[in-house]
Amino acid sequence: KRVFLNGEWKNAEEAKISVFDRGFVFGDGLYEVIPFYNGKFFLKEDHLNRLSYGLKEINIEFEIDGINDVLLKAIREADLDGSDGAAYIQVTRGVAPRIHSYPSESKPTVLIYAFPVVLEGFEEKSVDVLVSEDYRWHRCDIKSTSLVANVAMNNEAVKNGFHENVLHRNGVITEGSHSSVFFVRNKVVYTHPNGKFILPGITRKATIDLCRANNIQIIETPLSIDQLSTVDEVFLTGTTTQILAVRSVVMNGVARFKQNQIGEITRILQQELIGKTRRYI
Ligand code: PMP
Repeated sequence: KRVFLNGEWKNAEEAKISVFDRGFVFGDGLYEVIPFYNGKFFLKEDHLNRLSYGLKEINIEFEIDGINDVLLKAIREADLDGSDGAAYIQVTRGVAPRIHSYPSESKPTVLIYAFPVVLEGFEEKSVDVLVSEDYRWHRCDIKSTSLVANVAMNNEAVKNGFHENVLHRNGVITEGSHSSVFFVRNKVVYTHPNGKFILPGITRKATIDLCRANNIQIIETPLSIDQLSTVDEVFLTGTTTQILAVRSVVMNGVARFKQNQIGEITRILQQELIGKTRRYI
């Protein structure tokens, strides 16, 4: 496997990072995952804009424009021309003595590589999800590599046979541990508004655009766990998740939502997404 680390392409085994890298020490860094379909990036600019936003929010100075050529090369280096996959980008604040505050001088560490992902067949599945308390920090809009809470919450779900979590803060549903959450009620689509409590998902945005383009009403407002029993459809969105139907939403062992068939609006949006992502064929 070939990876791009700080300006050079290397075999993964030869790519080394300092034990004093703040990404390793503090999780002081960001990441981004950009999908490609048949070797062509999808919504790359949106992903890079989100990365730029995060870097600005945590004061990492890094010129993002140069990344474009590296991203294209990443697909070739992974032998994925004509295939589906994603590029992983990680930028940390770099190497410095272990002091919490930002070092006066440090050079960002930059890692980029592409990997294969199965991006088809999502429209044939339906998953069970677990309601968990969202105990992450209050800057979920920053795509930080500090994912301890997400990892622990999702582990709880997977350990108990669930695919994902539906997270709630004080009873208000925010998103998944690694996906955005949508609801459909009376043919109206609902999702939590952007802000500091969710990641501004790129697939979330694409899905909202698809709703608008297809005259499906979309309201960006939070739903509470008490409202789960009133919805007709639940689905998750994400770069690798795409648009995934939810079969049940379980809280304390009780299904608050259950739907064996993939809902009508979910199906429409899935087909629309396939139309957008497969436009190159
Ligand atoms: N929320 C969280 C917490 C995530 O980790 C992800 C996956 N990156 C998403 C939402 C979905 O975002 P995107 O559609 O940009 O992949």
